[in-house]
Amino acid sequence: MDFSLAPEEEALQAMLRDFSRKILKRDYQHWDTHGEFPRRHWKALGELGVLGVSMPEQYGGGGASSVAAGIAVEEISRGDVNLGYSIVLNSLIGDILVREAAASLLQEWLPTMFDGTRLAAIGVTEPQGGSDVSSIRTEARPNPEGGLELVGEKSGISLAAVADSAVVAVRESAGVSLYAVSLHSTGVRRVSFDDLGNRPIGRGSLFFDHVPLREEQRIGRPGGGLRSVLTGFDFSRVLIALQCVGAAEESLDEAIAYVQSRTAFGRSLAEFQGVSFTLARRYAELEQLRWYCYRTLWLRDQGRSHATEAAICKWKGPQVALAAIHDCLILHGQYGYTRDLPLQQRLRDVMGLEIGDGTANIQQMIIGQSLTGVRPR
Ligand SMILES: Cc1cc2nc3c(=O)[nH]c(=O)nc-3n(C[C@H](O)[C@H](O)[C@H](O)COP(=O)(O)OP(=O)(O)OC[C@H]3O[C@@H](n4cnc5c(N)ncnc54)[C@H](O)[C@@H]3O)c2cc1C
Repeated sequence: MDFSLAPEEEALQAMLRDFSRKILKRDYQHWDTHGEFPRRHWKALGELGVLGVSMPEQYGGGGASSVAAGIAVEEISRGDVNLGYSIVLNSLIGDILVREAAASLLQEWLPTMFDGTRLAAIGVTEPQGGSDVSSIRTEARPNPEGGLELVGEKSGISLAAVADSAVVAVRESAGVSLYAVSLHSTGVRRVSFDDLGNRPIGRGSLFFDHVPLREEQRIGRPGGGLRSVLTGFDFSRVLIALQCVGAAEESLDEAIAYVQSRTAFGRSLAEFQGVSFTLARRYAELEQLRWYCYRTLWLRDQGRSHATEAAICKWKGPQVALAAIHDCLILHGQYGYTRDLPLQQRLRDVMGLEIGDGTANIQQMIIGQSLTGVRPR
């Protein structure tokens, strides 16, 4: 077994850690406080060549490993967990497109997604349910004026207010299919949600009111959409776990510095076991999780199955990170509870990741089924 990173992966890690600390972290709270999408930084990540780091070079990607995508999301999320979405969404959507889409669509979408000029969303969830992805009702149906039309609502979609394009899961006679949709088309309407966290990314509903659609916009075979999205989740779920890990690691670093500098009862806080054991416990949990995520990405790079492992990452990632961030906030005492420090925002932001891409219950269903062969109810 070789756990070392390749030299180019180490270089990516060092470059992004520096960029994240110096540039992204400085503005992390600004975007939340002002309710602004961090377009400038998203674009800068495109210019650094990381937005499609593990995607094929012929479409403007970096041609690197899935492990490299993990490194990118972890490091970016140290500075700004919300900008971690740039890697998660582009990797999920890029993965689906590279597997399924026609060459013309790949040429049209991917280079602009990876240079940061095209914001792409994925629309699976609907108002009546997200866990049960088979319940999709949004329809692609014959348009009386020729071709097809898209009718329905997608709900809770990340980047809803700002995205240019979306991969949309749609019901048709063959089952659920995926379509590539411009969100600047006539008939598309957006409504934003007032969320607790991830506010700079924003979530909302996308309404499709008889949006004209062509057969050529279908991604992959008719009825193959669910399988394709679920395969994509095997990648994004690991990346989301590393997004959470990055945010928690930064919180831990801040807490370590704080307890080293603060005194109580005439001693450094770091001298109290109650303090250092808390840090030790959260550090150990994060290290275990982090390495499990990289192992899962390594399996993916070897072309080996990793669906169960991805579900374990997605189940544990937000939970372990939230517990760590919570402890780090408390270790900062009264200051931790203020909006001056980023800890409260990280709690709000990471909590959303407990739900997006499937809750803990849904991950446990996947793991349970892989163990027993029976789908839990
Ligand atoms: C931050 C964030 C970002 C998101 N981004 C996107 C996006 O970009 N695109 C997109 O399509 N969707 C997105 N979503 C939506 C998300 O995928 C869904 O909210 C999620 O899948 C859960 O669906 P639901 O909200 O309809 O809950 P429901 O499916 O109604 O579930 C409600 C509760 O019941 C539990 N539950 C449901 N079924 C079972 C069962 N069989 N056994 C045990 N418990 C069960 C769930 O765990 C959950 O706690 C996002 C959500 C969030 C919070």
